[in-house]
Amino acid sequence: MHRIIIVGGGAGGLELATRLGNKYGSAVRKKGPPPLAQVTLIDQKPTHVWKPLLHEVASGSMDSFARELEYAAQARWHGFEFHQGPLTALNRAGKSVTIGPLLGTDMSEVLPTRTLEYDTLVLCLGSTTAYYGVKGAQENCIALDTVEQAISFRERMIAACTRAEYRMDETVADKASVSIAIIGAGATGVELSAELRNTAEVLHAYGLKNLDPVRDIDIRIIEAAPRILPTLSERLSAAAVELLRQKNIILMTGEAVSEISAGVVHTASGKSVNADLIVWSAGIRAPAILAELDGLEVNHTGQIVVGQTLRTETDENIFALGDCAACPWPDHQRGVPPRAQAAHQQASFLARALALRMQGKPLPVYTYRDLGSLVSLGRYSAVGSLMGNRFGKKMFVEGLVARYMYTSLHRMHVATLQGYRWMLLDMLSDWLRRATAPRVKLH
Ligand SMILES: Cc1cc2nc3c(=O)[nH]c(=O)nc-3n(C[C@H](O)[C@H](O)[C@H](O)COP(=O)(O)OP(=O)(O)OC[C@H]3O[C@@H](n4cnc5c(N)ncnc54)[C@H](O)[C@@H]3O)c2cc1C
Repeated sequence: MHRIIIVGGGAGGLELATRLGNKYGSAVRKKGPPPLAQVTLIDQKPTHVWKPLLHEVASGSMDSFARELEYAAQARWHGFEFHQGPLTALNRAGKSVTIGPLLGTDMSEVLPTRTLEYDTLVLCLGSTTAYYGVKGAQENCIALDTVEQAISFRERMIAACTRAEYRMDETVADKASVSIAIIGAGATGVELSAELRNTAEVLHAYGLKNLDPVRDIDIRIIEAAPRILPTLSERLSAAAVELLRQKNIILMTGEAVSEISAGVVHTASGKSVNADLIVWSAGIRAPAILAELDGLEVNHTGQIVVGQTLRTETDENIFALGDCAACPWPDHQRGVPPRAQAAHQQASFLARALALRMQGKPLPVYTYRDLGSLVSLGRYSAVGSLMGNRFGKKMFVEGLVARYMYTSLHRMHVATLQGYRWMLLDMLSDWLRRATAPRVKLH
């Protein structure tokens, strides 16, 4: 049996493991022909949460526990094996990976260091926050890379609002307020700001009566580029500016952050912004471990260099996809962008390509298809540009239609992992949950 190991069960890796497990592998199959491949997924976490939902977890508009998928269950249902633990080393000559020990909540060892052998290895480790050497940024900001960070932000925001409400009761003259600064006006920063305004309104409705959700909760985005959403079209950016203004989000564009000290953001132009909470969403880089993997070639942001087959330039048995892969995008200045739609396309491509590889056939070539971008701006609004027709023209969408399309991206992810019947049941349970729970997770 051909042994395929996939490291990283995110937007791309889990889809790949599921597709390959469904088709070729089966750790649990009792009837039928023997499986062709042994598919193994490794992730440091026990559960999968689709990363584009993290800003909703941070604002409390989504309960991560209702949206997580357990890897062990997914493996059981879709014919692959799952091993939990962090990838710590690669031995290319011995074709094996090392998984570090799995520690419990009390830091005691649950599983020891393990070594697994592969015939084909696929690295899908995603990305992590890049601080670009800005002094104090890592120490004084909250990032949104993981569910834990998103939950921590939500808890700190609710605590800050509650504290401010209490202070207002005591000293009416000295009006208390909460100030939130978001560094970086990419999709994550913009989406988070809009969600936070909704959260402020809900917190006011649920008991923080003294705290005016607009007057007393200052939400601002600080961006070095001259406009927000700098990698998207000007029209989309302008539409987002208008919607953010309606939500009283303060935009500081053209302001490069030079230093962050406890509770203060300093800009290169000499401005200082005081903030109770500072979120860093200004950029990403690949996980540091990739540069330590037995000589695999990485680029300046730590991504593994792959060709258009998604195979690494260094080793014919190793592939990479998603945010951690530097994949060429012909006729474009940059490579394939680090986005969920790229991870999804590459997972689906690699499922077919690895089948051909197992049959000893040549690998096909992957070309990224940009299907457009959607940016959510709260519960009922979004803006986006979609590749509209076969002539390749972009189509601008906004409002409820765009918001519906945005929501359907996650639905499609669920359908890819679990099938359409499951997706419909998931939609139904989501509606029921929303009908019977507060609009924001309050604890
Ligand atoms: C808040 C937020 C909002 C976003 N919104 C959008 C959006 O609207 N549209 C869009 O297209 N993209 C969006 N993105 C980007 C999108 O989430 C990523 O491009 C996508 O998730 C990349 O998929 P991936 O499979 O490469 O990595 P990920 O989905 O990040 O998965 C990586 C996996 O690797 C695991 N892992 C990491 N290191 C190790 C290790 N050492 N050992 C074992 N396992 C490891 C992680 O636990 C994780 O499960 C957003 C990202 C964020 C953070």
